[in-house]
Formats: sequence, structure tokens, C-alpha cells
Amino acid sequence: MEKKQYVYLFSEGNASMKNLLGGKGANLADMTTLGIPVPQGFTVTTEACNKYYADGKMIAPQIIEEIHEKMKELEEQTGKEFGSLTNPLLVSVRSGARVSMPGMMDTILNLGLNDEAVEAMAKLTNNPRFAYDSYRRFIQMFADVVMDVEKRLFEELLDEMKESKGVHFDTDLTADDLKELVGQFKVLYKKEKGEEFPSDPKTQLIEAITAVFRSWDNPRAIVYRRLNDIPGEWGTAVNVQQMVFGNKGETSGTGVAFSRNPATGENLIYGEYLMNAQGEDVVAGIRTPQPISQLEEQNPVIYKQFMDIVNKLEKHYKDMQDMEFTIEDGVLYFLQTRNGKRTAQAALKIAVDLVEEEMLSKEKAILKVDPKQLDTLLHPTFDEEKMKKVNPVAKGLPASPGAACGKISFTAEEAKVRHENGEKVVLVRLETSPEDIEGMIAAEGILTVRGGMTSHAAVVARGMGTCCVAGCGELKVNEEAKTLEIAGRVLTTEDFISIDGTTGNIYAEALNTVTPEITGYFATFMNWADEIRSLKVRTNADTPRDAKQAVEFGAEGIGLCRTEHMFFAEDRIAAVREMIVAKNEDQRRKALEKLLPMQREDFIGIYEALEDRPATIRFLDPPLHEFLPTDEADIIALASEMDLSVEELNGTIESLHEFNPMMGHRGCRLAVSYPEIAEMQTRAIIEAAIEVKQNKGFNVVPEIMIPLVGEIKELKYVKDVVVETAKKVMEEKGVELEYKVGTMIEIPRAALTADEIAKEAEFFSFGTNDLTQMTFGFSRDDAGKFLADYYDKKVYEQDPFAKLDQTGVGALMKIACEKGKTTRENIKLGICGEHGGDPASVEFCHSLGLNYVSCSPFRVPVARLAAAQAQVKNKR
Ligand code: PEP
Ligand code: MG
Repeated sequence: MEKKQYVYLFSEGNASMKNLLGGKGANLADMTTLGIPVPQGFTVTTEACNKYYADGKMIAPQIIEEIHEKMKELEEQTGKEFGSLTNPLLVSVRSGARVSMPGMMDTILNLGLNDEAVEAMAKLTNNPRFAYDSYRRFIQMFADVVMDVEKRLFEELLDEMKESKGVHFDTDLTADDLKELVGQFKVLYKKEKGEEFPSDPKTQLIEAITAVFRSWDNPRAIVYRRLNDIPGEWGTAVNVQQMVFGNKGETSGTGVAFSRNPATGENLIYGEYLMNAQGEDVVAGIRTPQPISQLEEQNPVIYKQFMDIVNKLEKHYKDMQDMEFTIEDGVLYFLQTRNGKRTAQAALKIAVDLVEEEMLSKEKAILKVDPKQLDTLLHPTFDEEKMKKVNPVAKGLPASPGAACGKISFTAEEAKVRHENGEKVVLVRLETSPEDIEGMIAAEGILTVRGGMTSHAAVVARGMGTCCVAGCGELKVNEEAKTLEIAGRVLTTEDFISIDGTTGNIYAEALNTVTPEITGYFATFMNWADEIRSLKVRTNADTPRDAKQAVEFGAEGIGLCRTEHMFFAEDRIAAVREMIVAKNEDQRRKALEKLLPMQREDFIGIYEALEDRPATIRFLDPPLHEFLPTDEADIIALASEMDLSVEELNGTIESLHEFNPMMGHRGCRLAVSYPEIAEMQTRAIIEAAIEVKQNKGFNVVPEIMIPLVGEIKELKYVKDVVVETAKKVMEEKGVELEYKVGTMIEIPRAALTADEIAKEAEFFSFGTNDLTQMTFGFSRDDAGKFLADYYDKKVYEQDPFAKLDQTGVGALMKIACEKGKTTRENIKLGICGEHGGDPASVEFCHSLGLNYVSCSPFRVPVARLAAAQAQVKNKR
């Protein structure tokens, strides 16, 4: 058998090997083939990462051997030698998963340096300052990333050195200063680790690769994966690449650039660079970089070469590129390229522009926008009228668009806790680091004092679609004292702040936000999505207002109207309670009579908002505990309304107590016990439809949906009540009206007996919230308490209530679709559980052949795009 290859030189790989080499590795191989000046190197594959974990977190000896062999070949390619005393080869070691996960995993630069190699570098470059600067950076990074020694300890030594030499910037330290610092760093390392800093480059290399593999499973990477649907089993590749130096002096530099503006999508080069610096200086946002336009003035020859390569890369990848480059002694190198992360606005503009520039077809362009990103466009901006009357107190960089308002949180941990307690917070930091990820997710917006447009906060916020203002040097933030000084005022964690990520403006007050509309590029793009998709998109809406909003967002009808949600209102809850605690049919009918006109009005409102679009209205499905009165005053009032003593009523409430309300007297079980409830709801639905048809001329065809059916006879019993009542109403009104009766499939037994059920049901709608609950056997209400342990222990990677479990729940859905069609060939199939708005789940529904998905109004555009993407990926 041929030996499996775990390490590939860039010159051996190609663009199609993304799964094996990771995105970065495949692109480096591809760029090498394209003849772009790329420092050479090799990629250790994702399979090696998976093997590392399979072997109990150990790199197999055969892979180590292969790494050393490839290193020899790299030495030949570069004419340098790893660990040489005269001409040392230095490398960077970076992670590179199949999709980019900015800042989530680890990077080590300048690897290969030791006390001898640094002297050789000093001689070779005639620049001892540069050599020792590289060395001190390497020791700090290696210690931090590979050996877990706190970075802060090294930074303190650096600060002390600057202070003792009376200088302000790192660049003002001399070679001798840096040499002294290296000595101090090594002493610190030995103190912390109890051993000498490893001087053998081969040891350094294997340790560094191990650390990158290990970082695939660090907590922030796990959170990022969950957020972005990246499976743990993909693993990360590791790229080992010859170092080129941007910190060799004033003819060297380094930068990052996007081929188009990642915030707006404008087709103009966008980027930043710093002369005499290494990449980390640009990304960390410690020194403020120059805009890329400056390079044209500073070095027109390099700028032209740079732009030619940028254009070549964009044409080649047919997408906006995010590139890292370094100039070493006046020679330009590209260190990497990838499809750039961008805001939702930018994504839409770029996708539409690429079609207009004839680089992409509409089908391909549809795939360029992440459906989840659209969410950010549907969320609030500041109310324009109000904005005319308020003044910003400061301005930072508009790093990620949108508007956010909340109370100030100075730490990520606090932001997370306050968010969980229902508070809206804005995370205010000097700068963010990858450890802050959970707080950044929890925050409405992010505001930083330091850092540019490509700082960590900016990149991550744009990726998440969270509003961010970065680099606002006017703020004085004291993270320890938890205070923020701004325009002469001191704000604390109890104060509101509002930030505008589109302008960079900051307001020291709470500002209203408004919901935007779908126009411009967004509308063009969504029209293309609608032309392409075959899966319809409906909405879950219980009020005319929500229905209207959803229609504006492109909903093609209502897939679920939860009638019990109409009863939460203050003026209705009393009548509902009366209905629930009624001792006999008479009492119940009395309460239902109060509810009938309210329900009828609700349905009229909903039909009118939908115009001719279909509406699926579900019969009452209240977990009773949500409606029973607990407040003493409420109980007294209810007893008096019903002519009961308080004791009597308390007795009834007691008797209605359920141990497991989610599996209790709910859904169609209620209608089986109390058919008069189904009668009232049928009457309201049909009467409202007749009224709207007569008054407004809309052709309303109500779809009456019976919930929580597990047995055909249950459905038949309730359906008979519906049919009889509808007939009666139509006779009373002297009008014929078309309507449908169907059911939810949300109990495993219903899925398994779907051929039976379909005899009575004209449509199925998968209630995957309950179906997930009952398939897994854990409660929707309680699972949150232990799911975190499941993520920690890698039992689950995803919340099955958010992302459909295609293996288990999906198998039941497939059975139900197939069986249902055997008895009713044209049965209409939909989904209305929360999964109906999750892109991966939408794709699954498309492949099952469902007719529609239904989701909350704000997720309608997300589902429309996900459905179009499913169609492009898998035509049906
Ligand atoms: C479901 O169970 O998926 C559903 C949509 O119904 P509810 O969430 O109201 O139980
Ligand atoms: Mg349900």
C-alpha cells in the first residue's frame, strides 16, 4: 500500500485540495502555481490534525519524519538552512482550517532563532537591531502560544526596558537594548517553565505544530465553530512558511489589504500597512497604520506591482480578496490570500457588482452571501429624525455598520452575564482579544479605544455582523475602575451609550433604533434569490403587525399562527383563565363566548395583512402552566368573576398542576377533552375569512392545523368537530368557503404512522421543536441547563433545537414525507419549528422536497436566500 502523505510543499498542492490543505494552504499552493511571489513552505494536512487527536494528542513519528523531510526540501528551495550558523532559515507556523477563522487559532513567527542563529542573522543583514527584535518577538510568542506563559509578563519587561531607556516606541530601542531584553526573556521563561528555552529549531518546529493542532480545540475556537456551523471533525492544517521580514528597516514593511472595501463593498483597494514592522503590529492595532494609498506615493513601483497582483488574484478567485503582504528590503511578497470577510452590505454590493462585471453568474453570486449575515441588515439603525437633534460626544472608526444602544460593560465576562440576565449592553474595551469572543457575541455593539479597521475587534465584529466602532482614542477607559471618560463626562456600567458603526459616532445617551427596509442592492439580490429557489418561505406570525413585517421581508404566507399567543394580552388573559379552570361545559362555553369576538378580530387583521396569501392557523396548544394564575390578586378577581370561592378556585388550580406540562394536557388533547374550544376557534376562523372575502375581496383559504397529533383517531375526532362547525357557519352565512384541515407532525408516532394520518390530513407541517424534544427525550425548557456540558465534552457540537438533527429527527421527517405521500400523493409539506429559519436546516428541508419553510419574520430573508442556495447546490 502506498504511504499516506501528510505533508505537502506549496509546490505540490493545488486549489482543489482545500479539505486536506485548509483554505490558506490550498491558496498558497495555488498562488505558487500562478507565479505570485509567495515565500515558500509546506502544509501539514488536516488529516494529520485529526490523526493527532485520534492518537491521543500526539503527532505520530512517521509524520514528524515527513515534516523534517519537507523541511530539507524547503532548505533546498530557499538556499537557506534550518538552524544554520551562517545562513539560517526562519519560518512562520500558522493554522489554516478549511474556512478561515480569524484570530481563533494560534500563529508563531520567526521560528528557528536561537543564540547562534540570531548572530548569523545580524551579520547577514548587517542589522543586529532587526535580528534581536525578531528574536525577542519569537521568544515571547513561542512562550505564550506554545508553552502557555502569560504574554503580559513579557510585555511588562518590554515596558520596563523602554522606561529605563527613556524611549516611547519599540522602534527606539537599540540592538543592545533588545539583546539585553532577550536575556531577560529567557530568564523569565526558565523561571516560568523550569527549563531552558528550546534552542533546537527542530524541537521548536514540532512543538509549534503541536500547539496549532491543540488550538483547534481551544474554547474560543469551539465557540466560533458552533456559531459558524463548522464541524469539529474538519480539523486544521498547519502552514510552515519561510519568513520574510517587514521589520528589517525603512525599506521594509508589512500590511493587510482587501481588494474591495469590506465595510461598504466599494470597488476600491482598501488596506493598511506599516513600514519597519511585522504583521502582528498591524493586526494588534498597537501602532496606527497608514492607508494603502500612501504606498503609491511612498513607492510607486512596488505599489504598481502590488496592484497588478491584487487584480490578478481577484480575477482568479472571482471574489473580493483579503491579503497579507510584506516588503523585505524593497521586495514584495504575498503571504496569503483568502476570500475576505465582509459586512452584509458589502457582501450584497460585491455579489451584485461581480454579476454586473460579468465575473459571476447569478447562481454563483447567490452563493457569495452567507444567509445568516442578512440578519444584520434587518436589525435596527438609529431613527434619522431623532439623530438631527443629538450630537455625538466622540468619533471612532466605523469598523462594522449598524446601530447599537446599551449599558456599558467593560469586560467580556460581564457582558455575557448581563446579556443572559436580559440586559442590553455595549462592550467597551481598550482593545479586544480572541478571549473576548463570548462577550462580543453577547453585546449589542463593540467600542474600542485602540486598533484600526483591521484590528481584532473590527474583523470579528464584521464577521458576526455586530456593530463596532474601533480606535476611538478620545475615550479614556479605565477597565479596572470600570469608568469611561468622554467629553468631560465620566460614565459607569449603569450609563447608556449608543454607537453607530456606519459613521463611527458615539453618543452618551440611549437612542431609539428603527427597522430598515429591503432596497437597493439588497432588493436586487433577493429578487435573484427568489427567481432561483423552488422552496417557498412563509412566516410564523401571531399578530397582523408581525404578518405585515414578514410580508415586507418577503414572506409568502403564514406557516404557523399560534393562537394561544393571542391570549397573553392583559385584557384577554382573564377570559382564557376562565376557560382553563372551568369546572363544566357551561362555564367553559361562557368563557369561550368572550373569546370568540376577540379571535375573530385577530383573524380578520391577519387575513387583511396577508391579502391573498395563505394562512395556517393552529388550534390552541398552550402548555397550561403558562396560563394558570399564580398571583393572589388575579386569583381573587377570577374567583369573583366565576362566582367561586377562592378556596374552590385554588383547589381547581391545584388539580390542574402537571409534573411535565410539555407532555401534558396540551395540543389536540385539549380539543378532545373540550371540543367546544375547537368549535369556537373554527367559528372564528371561518367567520373572519367570510367577512374578509366579502368586504375586501381577498380569496382567503384558511388552513386549520391540529397540533400534537400522534394517532389518526385523535385527528379524526377533532377534524369532525371542525367540519361540522364550518358547515354550520357557512349555512348561517349562506356562503361557501374553501378551507383545509391538516396537522403538525411533532410526535414521533405521528411521523411513523404518517400514511394513516395522511388519510385525514390535507397537509403536514413539521413541528420540529416538539419533534426534537420528543425524539431526544429531553425537555425544550430544561435542556439549556445541561447542553453546555454536552458542548464542553464534545458530545454535541450544536443545539439540536437551533440546528436540525438531520440524522435522527431528520430521519423521522423523511419517513413521514414518504409515508404521507403513499396515501395522499400531493400532500402539502412544510416546517414551522425554529429550524425553518436556520440555513443548514433549510437546505435539508429542500432536499426532503418540502413545499415551504416557515420562520419568524426577521429570518424570512435568511430563509429565502438559504432556499436559493439549496437550489443552486442541489437542483430539484
Ligand atoms: C413545534 O413544536 O415545532 C412548533 C412549531 O410548535 P410549538 O413551538 O408552538 O410547540
Ligand atoms: Mg409544538
